[in-house]
Amino acid sequence: MTLRGVVALDGPSGTGKTTVARKLAERLSAGYLDTGAMYRVITLAVLRAGVDVTDADAVTAVARDAVFTIGTTPVRPSVTLAGEDVAAEIRGPEVNHAVSPVSAVPGVRELLVARQRRIIGEVLAEVGGVVVEGRDIGTVVAPDSPLKIFLTASAEIRAARRSAQDTAAGRESTHADALASVDRRDRLDSSRSASPLRAAEDAVHLDTSELDIDQVLVALSELASRRGLLDCAAEATR
Ligand code: C5P
Repeated sequence: MTLRGVVALDGPSGTGKTTVARKLAERLSAGYLDTGAMYRVITLAVLRAGVDVTDADAVTAVARDAVFTIGTTPVRPSVTLAGEDVAAEIRGPEVNHAVSPVSAVPGVRELLVARQRRIIGEVLAEVGGVVVEGRDIGTVVAPDSPLKIFLTASAEIRAARRSAQDTAAGRESTHADALASVDRRDRLDSSRSASPLRAAEDAVHLDTSELDIDQVLVALSELASRRGLLDCAAEATR
């Protein structure tokens, strides 16, 4: 089975978006775009430049000049800044703390949304389908997407998942820290004026609190199939 078109996957942090998006893309021989990683890499560039995250003009200037790449292969998506592999550093506490203010800057969003649309066009031309994850994919980046999903989960569950991820990556994290961090980020992401986190009107809501990854994948594959987005013939001719 091969995906045709764009699947837009939005929702707050800790809903399983990244794992689900990557596995879905892998399963459906599609490309994958992690737009959160793009906001994170710009945030890292801002921190490295020593720029105040509340100075919108200076932050936008850093975003304009940043030389970064973002991979679209779901198995191992790479992220580089000025030629350096920063995949681990963009998940660290400094970037976690600063990413919401940076991504609230309209100039940053304008630059990144344009680049995201370009990448989506390239991946579609190359492999025919792409799973894109973020906060504003269904509302702003790809509003014509034939399948928009909004993942949710209780704050407790999201904090537990974030804390487990941090521990697995060797970063110290307590449940209370993780809860405070996801709460703060969601509040900032939902209340900003430029493309706040919200579900598209035609998005399918899926609460992942009680579901494991496989159950979420089955639900999403079924939705894609029902929307006629799965090309079964492509598999046979591969
Ligand atoms: O998805 P992830 O948690 O890596 O995203 C990091 C941050 O990037 C989010 O908290 C949000 O502030 C920002 N973001 C955004 N729009 C997107 C994706 C991420 O504003 N499409």
